[in-house]
Amino acid sequence: MEKEAMLWEPKDGGKVRCRLCSHRCVIGERNRGFCGVRENRKGTLYTLNYALASSVSPDPIEKKPLFNFYPGTSVFSLGTIGCNFRCSYCQNYTISQTDLDETARHLTEYLPQKAVELARDYDCMGLAWTYNEPTIWFEYTYDSAKLAKENGLYTVYVTNGYMTEEALDTIAPYLDAMNIDIKGFKEEFYNKMTSAKLNPVLETVRRAVDKGIHIELTYLIIPTKNDSEKEIGEFIDWVAGIDDRVPVHFTRFHPDYKMIDLHPTPLPTLQRAREMGLEKLKYVYTGNVVGDKGENTYCYNCNEPIIKRWGFSVKGLNLKDMNKCPNCGARIDIRR
Ligand code: SF4
Repeated sequence: MEKEAMLWEPKDGGKVRCRLCSHRCVIGERNRGFCGVRENRKGTLYTLNYALASSVSPDPIEKKPLFNFYPGTSVFSLGTIGCNFRCSYCQNYTISQTDLDETARHLTEYLPQKAVELARDYDCMGLAWTYNEPTIWFEYTYDSAKLAKENGLYTVYVTNGYMTEEALDTIAPYLDAMNIDIKGFKEEFYNKMTSAKLNPVLETVRRAVDKGIHIELTYLIIPTKNDSEKEIGEFIDWVAGIDDRVPVHFTRFHPDYKMIDLHPTPLPTLQRAREMGLEKLKYVYTGNVVGDKGENTYCYNCNEPIIKRWGFSVKGLNLKDMNKCPNCGARIDIRR
């Protein structure tokens, strides 16, 4: 489904500038932006994938991953195709790095009303836009988020954080939570591995925290690429400087797409990153390592287990009223 886009401006010579993500593409007549799903037609920018989903599923909220946000609930999750990043190790490259024209016939229309109804049918407490970058079907997520809030559902972006300030300002009133990927903590890594820049992502995190959106961060540790203690330490210091209550997930890399020559992240590397994180942050997790104790939530004050997990399953919630630790009474930062 095609629709006039939000957040663009006309430029000289029939060109347009898209203001949705930090690429800020200037797009000539009949051309598309870097993401491949926004096209200039006679000086007007159109979104080409409105409501067109490649992947749809009721998922545990823990899969996003969000561990301090409505634990144990299900979230109706949707993704489309395309991306504004070019990560050479993308695990969802079959939908993120594909061509719209070749894939369009495989996509299914889920208008906002239908998505909300399905969320209810599957006992989900919210809607999430995930699997590929949600910003690039912004108009659809915006309409759906508004409708979801009217219907008492929570809303979630699982994102690379490359949206512009304007885009975040526009959707923020209808967005409850975001998991934002921090793919490494060096500009050089972003330029080489993602075809994007680090700083706009960090700005999104800052702004989203300031707006009171629930934020969790995921740092996929890739052996030899972004796994030095120095780089991870700098990332941890940066998070602590924003808010030490922001949960961080250090997750395990698996070889995929164009990066199949590396081994999965060794477990000790993930555990060391978590230990380093816990020196400065309150909630630090390991991910993609089922059964590791880093899957659990512990009280930052007395180490009492608060939420036990196995993979994406919650096995026990140990919290008093007002989110207090049952052992020491510290306030645990969990939205529910
Ligand atoms: S969303 Fe980003 S990549 Fe896509 S056209 Fe707009 S500025 Fe370019």
